[in-house]
Amino acid sequence: MAKNDAPKTAISPTRQEDYAEWYQQVVRAADLAENSPVRGCMVIKPWGYAIWENIQRELDAMFKATGHRNAYFPLLIPKSFLEKEAEHVEGFAKECAVVTHHRLVAAGPGGGLIPDPKAVLEEPLIIRPTSETIIGAAFASWVQSYRDLPLLINQWSNVVRWELRTRLFLRTTEFLWQEGHTAHATADEARAETRQMLEVYATFAERFMAMPVLRGPKTASERFPGAVDTFAIEAMMQDRKALQAGTSHFLGQNFARASGIKFQTREETEEFAWTTSWGTSTRLVGGLIMTHGDDDGLIVPPRLAPAHVVIWPVFRGDETRGQVLAYIDALGSELRAQRLGDRPLEVEIDKRDLRGGDKQWDWVKKGVPIRLEVGPRDVDAGAVMVARRDRSPRDKASMTRAEFVGRAVEILEEIQRGLLARALAYRNEHTRPIDARDEFEAFFTPKSKNEEKPEIHGGFALSHWCGEALCEATVKDALKVTIRCIPEGGFEGAPWEGRIAEPGACVVCRKPSQRRVVFAKAY
Ligand SMILES: [Zn+2]
Repeated sequence: MAKNDAPKTAISPTRQEDYAEWYQQVVRAADLAENSPVRGCMVIKPWGYAIWENIQRELDAMFKATGHRNAYFPLLIPKSFLEKEAEHVEGFAKECAVVTHHRLVAAGPGGGLIPDPKAVLEEPLIIRPTSETIIGAAFASWVQSYRDLPLLINQWSNVVRWELRTRLFLRTTEFLWQEGHTAHATADEARAETRQMLEVYATFAERFMAMPVLRGPKTASERFPGAVDTFAIEAMMQDRKALQAGTSHFLGQNFARASGIKFQTREETEEFAWTTSWGTSTRLVGGLIMTHGDDDGLIVPPRLAPAHVVIWPVFRGDETRGQVLAYIDALGSELRAQRLGDRPLEVEIDKRDLRGGDKQWDWVKKGVPIRLEVGPRDVDAGAVMVARRDRSPRDKASMTRAEFVGRAVEILEEIQRGLLARALAYRNEHTRPIDARDEFEAFFTPKSKNEEKPEIHGGFALSHWCGEALCEATVKDALKVTIRCIPEGGFEGAPWEGRIAEPGACVVCRKPSQRRVVFAKAY
């Protein structure tokens, strides 16, 4: 093959060559985020932040439609609060940032600053890793009677969990998220809330992110510290690893007891409330990149795209410039008058002094759903040159301006549906029932011996598990494979849907099992 015939991609390495490095390169090429001078913390750049804002807006509307209201609680949590719930403190203690002083003083003749030894806090403060305890303290004072329940609160905030190995969006020391916290008069009501919010996350993932998800409870070892039950949505990335994309916890009365959230019942007895918490984070942006991105960069599903359409002028000389720009501005206005779902179409007009080819690749890498080029000949013909991000970057077609304006929303919806269908097909292709231990081990073992860059392998194994923590730990130690969830939804219509609930034998110890669970490697 001659050099010029070699397939070229905008991102190097490709997903197949080195998936982890491909991910970093897409984040950079799409200008989403970068590492900061603070180790483990990221700077989210405008294009990445705009995607997060779109995620936020859609989720926020869904939370409000289910009766929740937003509030804000302190960043700093007294150490004694965190100590109140034993399992909770054990789960988070190893990754807490601790504030011990309230003042800096000059270090001495050499210059610099040190924490003032005279300004030691009486009680250290923890930068929130999550807010159950501080919100619990507020709930304890807000709730007195059954009439104060249910209490349905959400907070949009940042949290800090000290991480040693970080990756932009997927695992960072500080990240942005939302945390819902609710209190209820009965266990049933709190359990229903836990399930409802799991469904909200699943609906959001599929409808807006075009990311198919499984949903169901976690096993005991994967539960949130202090929770009675944890439910999660899990998606398959293109390296076939699972990404936990949202969790919803039924906390029983554990946190109510720890924080003193008590209420007078209708019968005038006193009882602890039943609480839940649920969260999702900027990790979703990582999930979006790894679900849809290709070897040319990011692909943003239209419903979350910061810009739906980008238009740029192509002209040879200055004499046609004004004419082309006027045509583009008018076209932009016609498009902005339309809506995709609840949002007006966002149109970016790229007038930068760059070569057309450079602009094209820039917007391909950023993942804008539709690209339009307009030159003098298009103006004369009343046409536009249309390219779609879900097709090859070189694939362009001329359409009349009227036809494009008439069909823009329809094309965006088609792209959105196509992305979901493609992701679903990929996940189903790499999901299979596995009964024999040999086959299970082979499925999760890369064929190449290069541990630095293992080839893409594995997927979701639907296998039997006896329920013993030991069998779960065996698989985790040997293969780094965990039980992602006990699936209750998300496999509708798949060929093996009916085989989830069939009895069998544990893939590790052969003891009887009533149903299959989902095993996978995970982020
Ligand atoms: Zn077993």
